[in-house]
Amino acid sequence: MTVALVGAGPGDPDLLTVKAARLLAEADVVVHDALVGQGVLDLVAPGTELIDVGKRPGRPTPQELISALLVELGRQGRRVVRLKGGDPFVFGRGGEEAEALLAAGVPFEIVPGITSSVAAPAAAGIPVTHRGVSAAVTVVTGHRRAGEPDVDWRSLARVGGTVVVLMGVSQRAEIAAELQAGGLDPHTPVAAIERATTDQERVARCRLDELAATPVDSPAVIVIGPVSALDLTPAALVAAATPTS
Ligand code: SAH
Repeated sequence: MTVALVGAGPGDPDLLTVKAARLLAEADVVVHDALVGQGVLDLVAPGTELIDVGKRPGRPTPQELISALLVELGRQGRRVVRLKGGDPFVFGRGGEEAEALLAAGVPFEIVPGITSSVAAPAAAGIPVTHRGVSAAVTVVTGHRRAGEPDVDWRSLARVGGTVVVLMGVSQRAEIAAELQAGGLDPHTPVAAIERATTDQERVARCRLDELAATPVDSPAVIVIGPVSALDLTPAALVAAATPTS
């Protein structure tokens, strides 16, 4: 296989798959996103070519250029790792890269990763489904790109269960307003987990009607639903055992 579309997981290098770690160590060239943390990149062998195609404000790398680069590197017969945050097929545009490789006849494989849509809530002690509390989870993008179908937030409000929003930080006021307009209880618990599983992780908790005014930094996963009131982390155990007075 020449090109591997590899999920890097949410940030902590210990959350890479064994296969991802092996492919990184064996790669000739690694093409990575901005979301992939330094801890993961440290696993790349010295001398391996690193290409940062991270899309950052003011310095975007168009998706077509990335796909063309992968096709070109793949045709050279080099061992190429295309490294993406989380899972490559969950809002990672890995599907578009796979289509380009297929169209060009370049052999490739897909290596799933742990997606932040479940890892970030888990890091905050929030199970996205919980017996008796939530029987469904909807993962949705808060960032609408031109030409993409609209998310029907008002209908989503009636689905029940847990709503996990990726790329939703800047749109959180509108999202909260639409969900409430669709009938979701303004007191619904919300948790926003920033930079999950890294040493800069931060969790903000609030109610749905407080989300707009609650400071949240990107990248963050926003979890909306009754499970967001849970904190099943060992830290909660320590807090419970510590006398308050
Ligand atoms: N393919 C990725 C998602 C890419 S979209 C995955 O499966 O996780 C980018 C969005 O993912 C960010 O805007 C943020 O909402 C979320 N995200 C990715 N890593 C994150 C992390 N460590 N902490 C919080 N949010 C994260």
